Amino acid sequence: MKKLRGIFIKNDYEIGLMREANAIVSMILDRIEEKVAPGVATLELEELANDLCVEYKVKPAFNGYQGFPYTLCCSLNEEIVHGFPSTRELVDGDVLSVDMGVLHKGFYGDSARTFGVGAISSEARRLMDVTRGSLYRGIEMAAPGNDLYEISAAIEQYARANQCSIIKRFVGHGIGASLHEKPELPNFVPRGAKRLVLKKGMVLAIEPMLSLGSDQVVIMPDRWTAKTRDNSLAAHFEHTVAITREGPEILSKSN
Ligand code: MG
Ligand code: MG
Repeated sequence: MKKLRGIFIKNDYEIGLMREANAIVSMILDRIEEKVAPGVATLELEELANDLCVEYKVKPAFNGYQGFPYTLCCSLNEEIVHGFPSTRELVDGDVLSVDMGVLHKGFYGDSARTFGVGAISSEARRLMDVTRGSLYRGIEMAAPGNDLYEISAAIEQYARANQCSIIKRFVGHGIGASLHEKPELPNFVPRGAKRLVLKKGMVLAIEPMLSLGSDQVVIMPDRWTAKTRDNSLAAHFEHTVAITREGPEILSKSN
């Protein structure tokens, strides 16, 4: 695969395989979304995801990745990312972030959504709307000729304008034949960021994580679950996006 400044450039055939991989991720997230309700344990969502991976003949991307023990990341309320599915049943008002990835014909798909369980607070709704909104502001900038950090800036500005905190510890990433490729894509413009011009054939996982309070992260004793230091609510939305001649193509979009 062609490389440009350390970034793999995918050809149309490879983008096609990534479109298939991400369509499967999106279908699985659709099915999980249908199932999310009070009284459902997140381990039941894990079971559904595993069954669907068998049905679609794909390999779960996260299970075993650097030792992560599950197919899904299920992060509840103050948990931001990398939470474990558990026997705890969802209750009315919970905010659940689900991250899902697959490996399909040598290429990865990666997408995340935050779901409200039953009736959620207006603040929780606002956090989810702003996080999703910031993702789409970022995606709009994912066009050839733009700078990578125009994506970061669009996410950052939208989050700040809507009084949400950006979790800086975790970033988006290039994706392809590996789950995490260059470049890193922060959800803010880092100090001294060098220009990196986006080219057709680059594929990025864009994934803002926002909170209603602290931007600081605590890793729980399970060594994976990341939560906000002040236990404020967090949300996470992610799409895998290809840079095409015509502009951004969301490969993980829902039908
Ligand atoms: Mg993900
Ligand atoms: Mg990702």
